[in-house]
Amino acid sequence: MSDPIDRNGLAPRFWETKRLSQLSDKEWEALCDGCGKCCLNKLEDDETGEVALTRVACRLFDDATCRCTQYDIRHQFVPECIVLTMSTLPLHAYWLPQTCAYKLLWEGKPLPDWHPLISGSPDSVHQAGISIRDGTVSEFETPEDEWEDHIIEEPT
Ligand code: SF4
Ligand code: SF4
Repeated sequence: MSDPIDRNGLAPRFWETKRLSQLSDKEWEALCDGCGKCCLNKLEDDETGEVALTRVACRLFDDATCRCTQYDIRHQFVPECIVLTMSTLPLHAYWLPQTCAYKLLWEGKPLPDWHPLISGSPDSVHQAGISIRDGTVSEFETPEDEWEDHIIEEPT
């Protein structure tokens, strides 16, 4: 599968030599591993703040490619979809997947070997069993009062 993210021409292991705040837009985008886990609906307990992940994917998510079908214009359809930047990352880190590259680097942790920037292939995230490709149900076909039945452990 070709990589929908342009990771060509980047300095080797740039994420180890620069701070997140120093990354160019291209470097920032290249950090996304394509796991798709941030496109799953979560259930948050108002009292405890605990976040449970469900297999119910956002309406724009394509389960077969593990990508957003309308990424560039997604806010026309899903206005609540977050824009992850250096300033919004601290607000969202608590619910982002444990393996999300942005969260890992923000926490001072290394990227895993299956990350496309290290493996050189966008498929390695799927081969390592980290992504949610072919593992979701549609938001359209799953009423919100049934989401609790679809709570899953994060694949890590
Ligand atoms: S969880 Fe992080 S690394 Fe995975 S698709 Fe979302 S932004 Fe990219
Ligand atoms: S709009 Fe696209 S990027 Fe945002 S959660 Fe939905 S599928 Fe993911």
